[in-house]
Amino acid sequence: MPRLTVVYDNKTNGSLQSGWGFSCLVEQEDKKVLFDTGWDGQAVLDNLGQLEIDPETIDILVLSHHHWDHIGGLSHILHAARNLKVYVPSSFPQNLKSEISRYAEVVEITDSCEIMQGIYSSGELGIKPPEQSLIVRGNTGFFVVTGCAHPGIGPILENASSYGKVIGIIGGLHSLEEMEMLEDIQYIAAGHCTRRMEELQALYGDRYIPIFSGYSIDF
Ligand SMILES: [Zn+2]
Ligand SMILES: [Zn+2]
Repeated sequence: MPRLTVVYDNKTNGSLQSGWGFSCLVEQEDKKVLFDTGWDGQAVLDNLGQLEIDPETIDILVLSHHHWDHIGGLSHILHAARNLKVYVPSSFPQNLKSEISRYAEVVEITDSCEIMQGIYSSGELGIKPPEQSLIVRGNTGFFVVTGCAHPGIGPILENASSYGKVIGIIGGLHSLEEMEMLEDIQYIAAGHCTRRMEELQALYGDRYIPIFSGYSIDF
């Protein structure tokens, strides 16, 4: 059963550190995929330590988009990891791709594809800036992991639905102009840059889950 753990978020409810940004660990059998790095790399490493995750054991780092609050911790992770592959939107700045390739293998993503068994990239969606989400297969359906959701949750969920039934979404959901798209989603785990949290809660009650550094779900 895959597990999603929020490593870094704007909020915390315990001993883990919080800060503007997002980072989420996906564990699938013995594989570990880190999605985004928050802005404060030392805080991300400290949080991983508290979660008893050795950064050397991370297999893949996926960067959703190049905003500072998602790639700020990048150099800390590159230094702490071993044999890391870094999946970036192909539209990433060329200089950034070159810098990353000094430490890790860079994989450029344009179209939706499988990253490893049961874990997929949405491919680049949107233009301001292009952003990729992760789509993770669980026992009863798929979870979508978003960075800021700049492309809008409509296109993100539509893309993810091509893999199967989406039961959950976790991450920054940004402006939520298409809030009604969440109608059939069982787990609305909103954090980071999500605006309109009160409306989400009013509309979706118990299905709305306010996330924080340290939040985790098996599905
Ligand atoms: Zn952003
Ligand atoms: Zn963000």
